[in-house]
Amino acid sequence: MIKKIRLSADIFRDNDREAGKNRRLFKKAGVFVVNLMGSPGCGKTTLIENLAKNYKGKIRLAVIEGDIATGKDAQRIAKAGVPVSLLNTDQVGNACHLSSKMIRKAYEKIRNTKPEIIIIENIGNLICPADFDLGENLRVSMVSITEGDDKVSKYPPMFVNAEAVILSKIDIIKHFKYNLKFVRKEIKRLNPNAEIFEISLKNKHSLKFFSDFLINKRTTTNTIYRLT
Ligand code: MG
Ligand code: ZN
Repeated sequence: MIKKIRLSADIFRDNDREAGKNRRLFKKAGVFVVNLMGSPGCGKTTLIENLAKNYKGKIRLAVIEGDIATGKDAQRIAKAGVPVSLLNTDQVGNACHLSSKMIRKAYEKIRNTKPEIIIIENIGNLICPADFDLGENLRVSMVSITEGDDKVSKYPPMFVNAEAVILSKIDIIKHFKYNLKFVRKEIKRLNPNAEIFEISLKNKHSLKFFSDFLINKRTTTNTIYRLT
């Protein structure tokens, strides 16, 4: 027999209040903020590197890089020519997700670059980042083919509130026992409004599709107003 235990939501109240402050701050600055979540190795940093290429000379991008202990991903982003603010969560003894307070500190370091889009690369983790509102405008959950076709069903909170879901490494699907139809159906069951992106580094169109989606979202989000 399995007994289910309900956990209290009280611990999130503080974070939600701080997230509200972030949202107002971002709105005032006219910046569109994306919270990118997904497991280690699903391709978050690689996706950001590719967005950097697509946005170069068109849109001012900045990145808040969440990493437990290293600056490896931040270095990759900096190399792509994008202003980056690094948050090492082991310094606060809380390694598995980013909080809205951390985001505000990180934002202070890049706000002078006047970013139009900020991508937050959350800690590689399919579980608790989903519970922490960072004051973002858009949530994107990413899961790769190599993780198996059961992950969406097993980690529902990650997909319930995401406006977009990215299935990455789609080009190697033939090497795996992976039921793509089932995964698409599971995403829609959890979140009927989710936009699904099937992307691969081999297919530049699939990446362009997603980078255009972010630009469109930015222009259609009524929280945005231009800097004067
Ligand atoms: Mg990464
Ligand atoms: Zn956590």
